[in-house]
Amino acid sequence: MRELELNIEKIAKLGKKNEKENLEFRTFLKGHDFDKVDRIVQRLNNEITSQIDCQTCGNCCKNLRPCVTDSEIINIAQTRYLKQSEFESIFVENETNSDVKFLKNTPCTFLIENSCSIYNIRPEDCKSYPHTQKPNFISRTFEVIDNYGICPIVFNVFEILKYELNYKQL
Ligand code: SF4
Ligand code: SF4
Repeated sequence: MRELELNIEKIAKLGKKNEKENLEFRTFLKGHDFDKVDRIVQRLNNEITSQIDCQTCGNCCKNLRPCVTDSEIINIAQTRYLKQSEFESIFVENETNSDVKFLKNTPCTFLIENSCSIYNIRPEDCKSYPHTQKPNFISRTFEVIDNYGICPIVFNVFEILKYELNYKQL
């Protein structure tokens, strides 16, 4: 496997620089067998995830707002001795014109010394990030491209996929 790129600053720069290429690769992917691409992505996800220590990274928690459900809000609010409404007024915001709720601060309020202080009750959206383990990769490539400049797992999965599908040559 190619050497992984783990430098967060470099990945952020490449996220901007490669935006056009990534959108073109998205179009290229549409012509491929969805199941075959899922199998490759899940293998790459497993190989790459095993080489990255999220606890020394935390870049998603510093840059993204996870969605949070009402039951998750109630659980997290209890750790602060707050009612749901009090907690929401301080820590939660709604997406415009939608009922979807997010933890509103970046970096996340609950990230303390690069660790999640509510790890056992963190939102499902945090648990499943960066979503490269999920099926239907080709249907989710806009989301993947959004995360490409933030998460080293996503960045390296997407870059190596370009080579494995001969979109790019070494
Ligand atoms: S709740 Fe925890 S895992 Fe989720 S963004 Fe905040 S610090 Fe990160
Ligand atoms: S999921 Fe990605 S961005 Fe988040 S801590 Fe792990 S490697 Fe870093």
